[in-house]
Amino acid sequence: VKGLTKHFPLQAGFGKKKASLKAVDGIDLTVYEGETLSIVGESGCGKSTTGRCMLRLIEPTSGQLVFDGQDLTGLSAEAMRRKRRDMQLVFQDPFASLNPRKTIRQILLDPLVVHRVGNAGERKDRVNWVIEKVGLSADYLDRYPHEFSGGQRQRIGIARALILQPKLIVADEPVSALDVSIQAQILNLLQDLQQEFKLTYIFISHDLSVVKHISDRVAVMYLGKIVEIADKGTLYREPQHPYTKALLSAVPLPNPKLRKERIVLKGDLPSPSNPPAGCTFHPRCAYATDACRMAAPRLEEKAEGHYVSCHLVDKR
Ligand code: SF4
Ligand code: MG
Repeated sequence: VKGLTKHFPLQAGFGKKKASLKAVDGIDLTVYEGETLSIVGESGCGKSTTGRCMLRLIEPTSGQLVFDGQDLTGLSAEAMRRKRRDMQLVFQDPFASLNPRKTIRQILLDPLVVHRVGNAGERKDRVNWVIEKVGLSADYLDRYPHEFSGGQRQRIGIARALILQPKLIVADEPVSALDVSIQAQILNLLQDLQQEFKLTYIFISHDLSVVKHISDRVAVMYLGKIVEIADKGTLYREPQHPYTKALLSAVPLPNPKLRKERIVLKGDLPSPSNPPAGCTFHPRCAYATDACRMAAPRLEEKAEGHYVSCHLVDKR
């Protein structure tokens, strides 16, 4: 992903300049085969839009997307639709994303029909195969989504993504709607499937404690930009950006000795239609200086593989 932006035009007020909402504002990102890259940030920071732009489910305003050596940017809608067999999305709310009038069998058959995979017999076999892969029984196939619990519905959502045997899955808050006890089961399932099928995940979450176990690397987003990215161990042990530090201070740690004082951020997330000048985090940052209010920091590699966007963080 290179220079990805998504700006939504806003209705211009009388006598006002035409404005736009900069949901994604220039993102560079590499996702390696077989890894889980998590994108974390408060709701409204642009992480879902980023995930959808990567699959071109939302058309980016600008930027380049290369997947598996192929430039997706110029692909026609039809070619992109075919490509999406390799890149699937798992949604946050499995209830809203599963058609209530269709049986589980129909829901799982749909992607095979759309992508013209196999004949009727092969499709049937594949549906039976995938439902068991996600830990459900083939006996459930003729039931409707409302007959399932939240966790079971998310298993069905995962089966629907998995049935095309994709290479990449973008999971947008896949456990946020679930009880904590169920969250762990779904995260374990995702990890097992990743191992078995060598899947690559982009895992979107507002919660650093949820992505802790599943991630290889973590990218922290704030107001449409990545402010820090590092491998998981480094990010949790030595966060550098003040925003990452604040997010991490809210994560409960099992060992009370390691617990840090909670950093409470001042104010709310500013509107992406009118982002603050300079470093967009400055109104909420305890370390902001005049330089921060004037000039936006760039995302720079401060140590190997550890990128931070903050004036106060020096290269090591
Ligand atoms: Fe805070 Fe300045 Fe760093 Fe922005 S650049 S995070 S305002 S210290
Ligand atoms: Mg979202």
